[in-house]
Amino acid sequence: HEAKQHHAGFHRFQEEQKQDVAARLSLLGDLRRALDDPGQLTLNYQPKVAVDTGALVGVEALARWTHPVRGPISPADFIPVLEVTNLMHRFTEQVLTIALSQTRAWLDAGHRVPVAVNVSTRSLLDPDFPQRVSALLEETGVPGELLSIEVTEYALMSDPDTAIEALKRLRTLGVKASIDDYGTGYSSMTYLKVLPIAELKIDRSFVMDMAENTSSRALVASTVELGHQLGLTVVAEGVEDEAAVAALREIGCDTAQGYHFAKPLPADALTARLESSVQALTYT
Ligand code: C2E
Ligand code: MG
Ligand code: MG
Ligand code: MG
Repeated sequence: HEAKQHHAGFHRFQEEQKQDVAARLSLLGDLRRALDDPGQLTLNYQPKVAVDTGALVGVEALARWTHPVRGPISPADFIPVLEVTNLMHRFTEQVLTIALSQTRAWLDAGHRVPVAVNVSTRSLLDPDFPQRVSALLEETGVPGELLSIEVTEYALMSDPDTAIEALKRLRTLGVKASIDDYGTGYSSMTYLKVLPIAELKIDRSFVMDMAENTSSRALVASTVELGHQLGLTVVAEGVEDEAAVAALREIGCDTAQGYHFAKPLPADALTARLESSVQALTYT
């Protein structure tokens, strides 16, 4: 009887797996179509602000997909699907194109806004990637200094030689790199020393419970210390309240990003903020 039940359970598991594969395949087909439809894939921009003055220091571009039938689908759900196919290259290209065109439009309107783009492991390790970035900077006329890329510890550790080579080539264009979600992967001190990066972004899981959790606070403080010793800028993600801002100020963290300051905003909404007044850019 038990064996039968077990078998039934396994059968259900197999069915679920099949459905999962089918769902991923249909999502992939939909993504392929979305890449040809400029209305479906857009970017929102989330402000990054200086902890001490509250001034806007840049924005992070975050992908948004509005599926024609299913509505908004989170990047957390579709990025992993793209990551296992070469469609990721087209997606990254599209995200960079939108972000740099927007940066260009802001420049033309008199706003110098540094933009950070998330780059997946597959794209970072693509040997053509630095050349593609170079071409897009040229096409849009955006100075490389206004672009940075956010990569994960996983991307850097899975093939360090290739990743380092790509980051060095990007650096010659003026493009800086950040380690995203820092603290959640298997960061190696050895690599931190040699990686050509400019910024550490502390994962929001540490930042969000800093007020209640003394261990999280200690980890944030020691990461800021470590980053500064290595000459890096340190950003805290997931800053949701004034208590977190106060703690970050005391710790000496450089930059903050989170719902307390602003949610990721459509370009128009960000432009409105840029244009309302200098005061609107200071949040403290
Ligand atoms: P991420 O790069 O770590 O981006 C930060 C995520 O935290 C964003 O989620 C953002 O909306 C969210 N967030 C910002 N402030 C707060 C806060 O105060 N509290 C909380 N709880 N969350 C906050 P989002 O936009 O859903 O993106 C999720 C992830 O998807 C990103 O994490 C990034 O890894 C990936 N992603 C997004 N856009 C792209 C893209 O264009 N390319 C690639 N390769 N990955 C992307
Ligand atoms: Mg990011
Ligand atoms: Mg992050
Ligand atoms: Mg994150």
